[in-house]
Amino acid sequence: MDYAFTEEELNIRDTIRQFARKEIVPLIGQIEREKKIPDNLIRKINGMKITGLPFPEEWGGSGASFVSFLLAIEELSYTYITFIYSSIVSFMAAYGFLNYGSKYLKEKYLRGLLTASLKGAWAFTEPDTGSDPMQLKVRAVKDGEDWVLNGTKRFITNSGLADIVVIFALTEKGVTAFVVETQNPGYIAGKRGDFLAFCGMDNGDIILEDVRVEAKNILGEEGQGFDILLSVEVFAKVASCAGNVGLAQAALDQAVRYAKEKTHRGVPIGVKFQMTQWNLATMAAKVAASRAFLYSIGAKIDKGEKVPAESSLLKIFTAAAAREVASDALQVHGVYGLSKEYPIERIYRESKFNEVILGSNEIQRVIAANALMRG
Ligand SMILES: Cc1cc2nc3c(=O)[nH]c(=O)nc-3n(C[C@H](O)[C@H](O)[C@H](O)COP(=O)(O)OP(=O)(O)OC[C@H]3O[C@@H](n4cnc5c(N)ncnc54)[C@H](O)[C@@H]3O)c2cc1C
Repeated sequence: MDYAFTEEELNIRDTIRQFARKEIVPLIGQIEREKKIPDNLIRKINGMKITGLPFPEEWGGSGASFVSFLLAIEELSYTYITFIYSSIVSFMAAYGFLNYGSKYLKEKYLRGLLTASLKGAWAFTEPDTGSDPMQLKVRAVKDGEDWVLNGTKRFITNSGLADIVVIFALTEKGVTAFVVETQNPGYIAGKRGDFLAFCGMDNGDIILEDVRVEAKNILGEEGQGFDILLSVEVFAKVASCAGNVGLAQAALDQAVRYAKEKTHRGVPIGVKFQMTQWNLATMAAKVAASRAFLYSIGAKIDKGEKVPAESSLLKIFTAAAAREVASDALQVHGVYGLSKEYPIERIYRESKFNEVILGSNEIQRVIAANALMRG
């Protein structure tokens, strides 16, 4: 299929592809074992300035298309999906500043995020909820000219690495987005997440103990936080779907490789067994459909169209497709698919994540169905 990518988009894709295969591939085994990304690699990834790709040059971005950002995420994910969420949450913070930040907030933080001299995080989820704003327990109380935040956020990507975090807290007027510097007294990076996959990722609790925030560090208006969250998440969701496409393509390629290598009485299983062929063809169809859906939404975003419901449909479809393709690809490998010697074992574990995070796919169905009922 011809996606009519521009030369600039193809150059960005190729640059990230070469970088990922040269710098990341040799370290995946070590990261998976040690559950830590080497500092040197973090510096190199920051140097690729992926977060800044679709932002205006005026603020330190590259002025590239949103599709370029999707291509970069797809390539990273194809190699090692663990890395995409750090870029995506920094993107969320930056996108929040660009669209809702005052001149003061933009000047203080946006350029730093886009040039990778600052790392961002985006903290909504708490121990009791990741979906429902009414159940938030982190509270912000006015004290003189400042606000004082208390409570715990959970499962926050970059919580131990970030310089600034957008924290969603309840005030009398509702959910409010506060920009918190992680060096503020009372900001504590707590217990680290330990998941089925995404081993090297920095993710964990944020404990807020009387963290003092100036009123000018409110993003948007008091009470506007949930609207900001939903509008920024649309773009993050689409970016995460580029992760689904990259992961599904990686699973398919592993299956095809194995189906060529593994023989049965001297004939490759991908040639001999129709069941294997059926699996490969079904996987390829899901990857192709996911990619076409992804870049059609990316093109709409670049034209300035709004895609709140489509982004949910995209996440429902591509996350399930990635999980199904990874499962079928493991099946093609037989028992070797269960062995850590083959990449498909890791890819299979990774493939479940995007049905749960960035708003579970049940919530995406609610968003999409409500839009249908309104329409
Ligand atoms: C690797 C990783 C990285 C993450 N990074 C971040 C981050 O940077 N920032 C952040 O804020 N969070 C982050 N999260 C948290 C993640 O986004 C949330 O876990 C996710 O949004 C789902 O929230 P929950 O698990 O708390 O589900 P809950 O809201 O507690 O829901 C529990 C279950 O009930 C269902 N449910 C809830 N409400 C409804 C409803 N109205 N209708 C139908 N079903 C419903 C859900 O679908 C789910 O199955 C991360 C999680 C992981 C694993």
